[in-house]
Amino acid sequence: MPKIHFIDVTNRDGVQTAKLGLSKLEKTLLNMYLNELGVFQSEFGFPTTKHETNYISANLELARLGVLAPIRLEGWIRAIVADVETAFKRLPDLKHLNLSISTSDQMINGKFEGRKDHFDIVSDMTAAVEAARQHGAESIGVNAEDASRTKLEYLIEFGRAAREAGADRLRYCDTLGYDDPFTIYDAIKALAQKVELPIEVHCHGDLGMAVANSVAGAKGAVDGGQDAYINTTVNGIGERAGNADLVATILALTKSKGLAGKYELGDNIDLSRAWKIAKFASYAFDVPIPINQPGVGDNAFAHESGIHADGVLKDPQNYELYGFRELGRGVPEIVETGREIGAGEYSGISGFSHVMGKMAVSFASKQEANEILELVRYATVESHKPLIEDQLLFIAKYPKIAKKLLTLTPLE
Ligand SMILES: [Zn+2]
Repeated sequence: MPKIHFIDVTNRDGVQTAKLGLSKLEKTLLNMYLNELGVFQSEFGFPTTKHETNYISANLELARLGVLAPIRLEGWIRAIVADVETAFKRLPDLKHLNLSISTSDQMINGKFEGRKDHFDIVSDMTAAVEAARQHGAESIGVNAEDASRTKLEYLIEFGRAAREAGADRLRYCDTLGYDDPFTIYDAIKALAQKVELPIEVHCHGDLGMAVANSVAGAKGAVDGGQDAYINTTVNGIGERAGNADLVATILALTKSKGLAGKYELGDNIDLSRAWKIAKFASYAFDVPIPINQPGVGDNAFAHESGIHADGVLKDPQNYELYGFRELGRGVPEIVETGREIGAGEYSGISGFSHVMGKMAVSFASKQEANEILELVRYATVESHKPLIEDQLLFIAKYPKIAKKLLTLTPLE
């Protein structure tokens, strides 16, 4: 039976969101948490965007060191040869790419305004796939932007051309959140059967159906005989109303009436990391987790009314579909209420050594401590807020990589 995988796109769609962003160190930590959670692939950045170059190169280095493994790191570019050339010129070690191009009449006419027709779209995309292969790309996904508003016959033609050019997956983008679970199931099942490639399901929440559409689309792919790769973001952060939330999508696939036990996950998902990654994304984006967020919201396991409280005390299964410990909740978190020494942009060596000492980190020499402190200062300048323990530990453990992440010199 075909399987369902996860490709998290927080470091691409998430950071593209208006008014939000992540520092390069935060993006790196997010890749590490996604790896711990068992996500198949992280769409980790934009290889043709100059300020991403050092970040992408540093993360590829972490992959080579085995720190970011087994997760795949995949870059997002437009499906044109020029972008492929630029990406590999700057980052020759890139291994995985998704190439994106618009396929709907609305976007072909509305964005290219007569400069490109349906034939040009297919030929641009196939040329880009072939160029990426020539440069040594190990896996290539092809993204049909606005697939949900694209005629199915053209989408099939586009997908078949992608397969013949050597693509490994076809991404069905419900770019505007226009689909419903019934339409996306039918469209993706037909694509799986007729294109004969694994299908990526990329959904947005403009009509409040991102998670529902994602699992329906994945079901369509599997029922059509192909693996599904659901695109998610942490806490659903993404363009406009956002993307399918990672934790909610995992819960929907593993706990819901018609899917639990009937469809198989392709990745070794460790849901006990859910709490940590959701809290981290909330901190890093500076966006609170909604109180009623599935699994990780403040109220996800809160009961107050008489009948519910009584019922859940007698047997949690009376009013809970799954337990809080499964999501890594229930461990007390320490909040400092007394004297607090922090590490920041203007910290000195004494305070910094105290902070690191509390985490059982000691330095071989005063010089080493000073070097790490300098990096911590820069990292704090970049993120505009105090670093969390994992960031301090990362800098102390991988100072050279941290330095690369923090180097934001404009390229020519
Ligand atoms: Zn999107």
